[in-house]
Amino acid sequence: MIKTEKILHLKSSRGRKVRVVREHYLRERVPCGSCLCQAACDNDGKVLPGDLTHYVVPDVGVVVDYLEILEFRELQGVVFTQTACQAVQHSKGRRQYNRLRNLLKDPRHDCVLFANEFQEYSYCPREKGECQERWQTRCVYSAAVWYHDHLAGMMDIVMITEDRDAIAQYGSLNSGVYVISVQDFLRDFWPQVQGAHELYSSISQALQEKESEAPQKEYSEHLPAEVLEAGIKSGRYIKGTLNISKHRPQNEASIMTDGLSNKSTDLSRGVLVDGGKNRNRAVHGDVVVVELLPKSEWRGKVTALTEGQGEEKGGEENESQPMPTGRVVGILQRNWRDYVVTFPPRDGTQSQSRNSQRILAVPWDRRIPKIRISTQQADALQDHRVVVRIDSWESTSLYPNGHSVRVLGPAGELETEVQTILIENGIHVAPFSDAQLREMPVNSPEKPWTIDPAQAAERRDLRESHLVFSIDPRGCEDVDDTLSVRSLPGGKLLELGVHIADVTHFVTEGSLTDLEARLRATTYYLADRRYDMLPAVLSADLCSLLGGVDRYAMSVMWELDAHTLAVNKVWYGRTIIRSSYQLHYELAQALLNGEEEAEVPELSELGPEEKDAKLAELTQALETLTHVARQLRAQRDRGGALELEGVEVRAQLDEQRNITALVPRQPLEVHETVAECMIYANHWVARKIQETFPHQALLRRHPPPRQEFFSQLVDSAKARGFAIDTRTNKALADSLDQALDPQDPLVNRLLRMMATAAMSQALYFSTGLESQDQFYHYGLALDRYTHFTSPIRRYADIVVHRLLAAAIDPEREAGLGRTLASNKELEEMAQHINNKNMAAQRAQKSSTALFQCLYFKERDPQTDPSCVADAVIYSIRNNGILVFVPEYGVKGPVYVKNRDGQVVAAGPDGSCEWQSGSVRQHSDHISTTSSCGTSTFRLFDHITVRISVHSAPFHGDSLNLEVVSNKPHRGAEPQQTPSQGRSQLVQEVVRLAEEASQQAQEKKAAQPKLSKEEREFRQSKTPNLYSLLEEVRELALMDLDRAARVCATTA
Ligand SMILES: [Zn+2]
Repeated sequence: MIKTEKILHLKSSRGRKVRVVREHYLRERVPCGSCLCQAACDNDGKVLPGDLTHYVVPDVGVVVDYLEILEFRELQGVVFTQTACQAVQHSKGRRQYNRLRNLLKDPRHDCVLFANEFQEYSYCPREKGECQERWQTRCVYSAAVWYHDHLAGMMDIVMITEDRDAIAQYGSLNSGVYVISVQDFLRDFWPQVQGAHELYSSISQALQEKESEAPQKEYSEHLPAEVLEAGIKSGRYIKGTLNISKHRPQNEASIMTDGLSNKSTDLSRGVLVDGGKNRNRAVHGDVVVVELLPKSEWRGKVTALTEGQGEEKGGEENESQPMPTGRVVGILQRNWRDYVVTFPPRDGTQSQSRNSQRILAVPWDRRIPKIRISTQQADALQDHRVVVRIDSWESTSLYPNGHSVRVLGPAGELETEVQTILIENGIHVAPFSDAQLREMPVNSPEKPWTIDPAQAAERRDLRESHLVFSIDPRGCEDVDDTLSVRSLPGGKLLELGVHIADVTHFVTEGSLTDLEARLRATTYYLADRRYDMLPAVLSADLCSLLGGVDRYAMSVMWELDAHTLAVNKVWYGRTIIRSSYQLHYELAQALLNGEEEAEVPELSELGPEEKDAKLAELTQALETLTHVARQLRAQRDRGGALELEGVEVRAQLDEQRNITALVPRQPLEVHETVAECMIYANHWVARKIQETFPHQALLRRHPPPRQEFFSQLVDSAKARGFAIDTRTNKALADSLDQALDPQDPLVNRLLRMMATAAMSQALYFSTGLESQDQFYHYGLALDRYTHFTSPIRRYADIVVHRLLAAAIDPEREAGLGRTLASNKELEEMAQHINNKNMAAQRAQKSSTALFQCLYFKERDPQTDPSCVADAVIYSIRNNGILVFVPEYGVKGPVYVKNRDGQVVAAGPDGSCEWQSGSVRQHSDHISTTSSCGTSTFRLFDHITVRISVHSAPFHGDSLNLEVVSNKPHRGAEPQQTPSQGRSQLVQEVVRLAEEASQQAQEKKAAQPKLSKEEREFRQSKTPNLYSLLEEVRELALMDLDRAARVCATTA
């Protein structure tokens, strides 16, 4: 080993120059990371394959500026030099550096790190007077030559650089080592990776523009990091996350501090940042540092109900008095993500751009500033939605600079809008890669999958001993859960079994499939499609507990006292099952009801005698199960479990899985029965893993709601003569059950919706983080709870299965070399899954809203009768009301006073028109007074509204509701369920979109690019309203805002 001294002159990301002297050790052996290695390097971890045409070694400038291109998975054999990595760390900051490190770690990317500056023969000391850039390039070239020699010339090496001098100097120095530009590299080696070419031109455009920026100051400079740190410590500055108001994105933003309090000032409500100058280039989500302004400059928030504003929690009315107000003096962490923008039409209004190629693109999210994009495709991209990234925001620039990454398609088209929703919610669902699919077991007619004898030896075999069956929605493909129940000999004991798909048998921790599933965290359900968490061979086949086939399961089996149901013994373990019946809910209920015509498909071939015997056996099992579930439910009810507003329509599917009808869901008892058994299994698994791993188990808790959020519920119920007691979950559950209006079932539904909206969210967490009294699940009234029963579509369940496996057989797990996630790792995982679940809910809500808008966009609100509907008032505001339209599941504001000061006046027949007058808000009604007299809108009144589309091409459309009459809609039957309209709505929008896309394809067959995008992203396009509805009472449709998160039946 040779010791030398290395002197570095570094420029920090904040522009300061630093001189660093480092002792530097050189060695002969530094891993090369290639499987062609002839020198027996110590290559652990990733290695580059030997069957490539070349390895590519990017120069420092390429790694710094074009990292995104190197992130394309198609680009194989990439060698990142230590020199380049250090340069990224110093010039681009921690975020970009982490990105590079993640790339190096990610097994899906074929790239390695080479510690070239520690390698005796590739290291070149910096020469006197040599500038840093030239020296770095020399180092990278030297590394490239080293690779070529080290691999004995078996692999060509391509160094890519944007430095023309380097190409001239090194280009023909060594045969087998090529030095070319990024553009030539992409053109020669990756002509088919269109995205990389587009990205290259967009980044290089942006870089050129940056050089030619005018030096005029628009904003004050940010303070250096040391000053910020010192200021925070001393209490002069406040650190927090910038949150920009959705309703007044231009002016209003606030800083949410982590409960920090400035010595003299109460900051519990946050710090207001008023206007763009004070925001000083901070973008929504950035971690910023603010300085408080003098008290005389403090402002209040604006609280009037503004256009487009729907829901809000009560208690915000008083926020208009002045509050601590500040200005941003520095930014600690940028939280920029990918943004969807729309390129505006080029009608000459682009006065801001000095150059015709610079476009101010408008982000879909109103909270994000316009982004300046340099492009040569400005004309082609008019009115298109494009994914962009922000590169920088200099103090000399009014807007941030960015570059385009990918074109989604013309604004307003269904496919474009769906992709927009996914990206805006941070949902990435690239198709499963080939490498990942190669990990999957095979099950084909030629090569059917069978039970492995080694597994058979380890597992408890229930195939002969137990009658196992599943009960699911009609047409369900991914059967996560099955049940069994039987009397044990002697008749004193019952054995209840819940058998769950053994997904973790097939998905090894750390495998590519596991990484992808973890990243997705859940299956995503949109209005017309779903994106599965696991590939179909698992989710719909080998993990799915289908009838009549052998499957691996994770089972929980209880021995219960047949009378009291007291638990005598619990057994957890891996099993082999063969489900005898794949029932659907209606069939199971029909059997329970003793309906003669109920036909069980599995029995249709049998002779009458055998059939009757089997049928009796099955019915007996269903009856026992119902009996058990009733008692379990009663136990939880006594503890105060809540029944909240859930999904109450279901889709009927035909053979092709098309939706033929949406019918009101009969509240079948068997739904509750199955749900109760799953809740029981989840609860007992939670107990087991928590007791075995008290500090590192993944549980799910549901904190009790904050009482003040119930005020709307309590007041509204009172207006109708009901008293709601919110002191405990039991009291709440009881009083909600009492609040029934026999004339109008919607009243109870709306009250339950309000209760749901007031709830906090159920969340995953690691037990090491909370004390045990925090584990409580309020909605289910259980002291411990987790998710175990749906591992096919939830990653949390996969984590829990692994914990359970470790708990029941620690030695086996240790023998397999597995270690448990630490409390900290588990908590990070819990956060990640929580975030993805919220993203899934937001995306689902947006996609439903999208379909509603596309549906009404096709209609003339003035003439089309389907645009007029019955609506119920559920909240009173100072200039309007909030209503719910049951037919379409739409909620929104209806204004009774407009911007011109006119008010809604109802004639004797109820029909409404705008007149000059005044408005008065009361606790349970709002009334307007005009020359016609007084018109009143009361809580829970039915009125008639007209639905139209409020067009907002840049941000996505929304629905606009206006009152037509203050009487119920004629012909509206309050009893009739909604959702006929909804299913037609989805079907029709899909049909129109398909027609449109077909026409478009016929018109321009020359543009296959978008349809390729479409194929790429649409992984399974089942008619998904069905899954949407059944999947989740956790994602209840009727109240997309929050219902779902806490719906009692599956939470
Ligand atoms: Zn080697």
